[in-house]
Amino acid sequence: MRQIAIIGSGPAGYYTAEAAQKLWGDAVRIDIFDSLPVPYGLIRFGVAPDHQSIKGVYRRYEATSLSSNVRFVGNVTIGRDVSIGELQELYDAVVLATGAPHDKKTGIAGEDLGNVFGSAAFVGWYNGHPGFASLDPDVAIGDAVVIGNGNVALDVVRILAKTRAEFHGSDIVNHALDLLDRSRIGKITVLGRRGPHQIAMTPKELGELGHLERANPRVDFADLPPDSEDAALEPGQRKSVTLLRGFAAIPEADRAGKTIDVDFDFFAAPRTILGEAGRVTGVEIERTRLEDGKAVGTGETYTIPAQLVVICIGYQTSPIPDVPFDERNGRFANDEGRISPGLYCVGWARRGPTGTIGTNRPDGFAVIEKIAADIGGGAGKPGGQGFDALAAARDLAVVAFDDWRKIDEAEVKRARDGAPREKFVAIEDMIAAAKS
Ligand code: NAP
Repeated sequence: MRQIAIIGSGPAGYYTAEAAQKLWGDAVRIDIFDSLPVPYGLIRFGVAPDHQSIKGVYRRYEATSLSSNVRFVGNVTIGRDVSIGELQELYDAVVLATGAPHDKKTGIAGEDLGNVFGSAAFVGWYNGHPGFASLDPDVAIGDAVVIGNGNVALDVVRILAKTRAEFHGSDIVNHALDLLDRSRIGKITVLGRRGPHQIAMTPKELGELGHLERANPRVDFADLPPDSEDAALEPGQRKSVTLLRGFAAIPEADRAGKTIDVDFDFFAAPRTILGEAGRVTGVEIERTRLEDGKAVGTGETYTIPAQLVVICIGYQTSPIPDVPFDERNGRFANDEGRISPGLYCVGWARRGPTGTIGTNRPDGFAVIEKIAADIGGGAGKPGGQGFDALAAARDLAVVAFDDWRKIDEAEVKRARDGAPREKFVAIEDMIAAAKS
């Protein structure tokens, strides 16, 4: 029997469990740990609340959880409640699938001013993450700036621009919906340090911006390369750029009645976030040009007003005591998923925050192949039974999958009209629902 511990119950964790089941069938026992009492990580707390079809992938993970050789072990923080060394004593392999839950920093002055947020915090806020539920961004302001040209920037723009009615059917948490009702935002500037051909936005997500009730996407023709250059782009990117061209071409008459301008400002690198009395008031920007694909400052600067800034430039993994960390890339130091014999990483914790949810599936299979080569048939380690004894000795309040199902049921029951659920945002409330 092989004993596997997977740390993190998001897509990377579940696809790894699935791969282990496929390879070993009943000859493996898998414990999936999460520091929160609720499973699914990025699916619950990262994927936008108005993208319910993407969130639906949780059903696949649920099926994995319900099989007899997989357990969800919630409300246990590895590195605090139990050390990595202790887990390695108990399991043949420990796989870190902890994602990349922390914001990368821009390193520019003013990043810590009031009403400036990283996307991990901001996305966590509207998705009901217990760590960010009380973020309380001030949206009763006129000008917002979103830094970054990736899909997270698009999520943030969409959430800021949508009307209450457009959130019908989403599971955006009530505290965010109520606060967004107070929005006075008239302009959202999206800053890209490079140009339209370099965006990291996918067509489906970018296209949504063109169909919002009150958002008015604007692109300056002058920023767009000649049409003929689009032919060299890969097809998805070409579609995205075509959408940008479409935004540039929207006639003024068709923009009537749209109250939120979404201005794409390309070749625009933020240099300083300006503030007064501790709060953001604007962003100083330097024009850039491309040199060998890189953004290089031209020396020309200008300032735009901003009373809310959301920085969406990517994420990094949280270090865990005793696990070697690659500071430069913000992930665990690893060789194709192997950190050391018996210790592995997968998903964003292995490769950094890139790719889609589906990218984690081959990742999971690849790491299980490495583990198979290292551990053979297993070394007769105690696995889950050993962990249970340790948890009892430490009085850990472990939340099992059946407990989660009670939380799930309670969340569904308290949903507002049309919403799939109303998430609990306090850990105590999750635990209380689990015990009910
Ligand atoms: P991302 O795709 O890596 O985009 C980050 C953006 O930030 C890039 O435009 C990058 O520009 C810019 N940037 C980085 N450092 C900067 C700096 N110092 N100053 C200014 N701009 C800077 O990251 P993400 O948007 O956080 O998304 C993470 C992953 O999740 C991606 O794989 C994404 O596709 C995925 N995701 C998917 C969906 C979806 O499918 N619906 C939704 C959300 C997220 P450069 O290119 O110049 O570096």
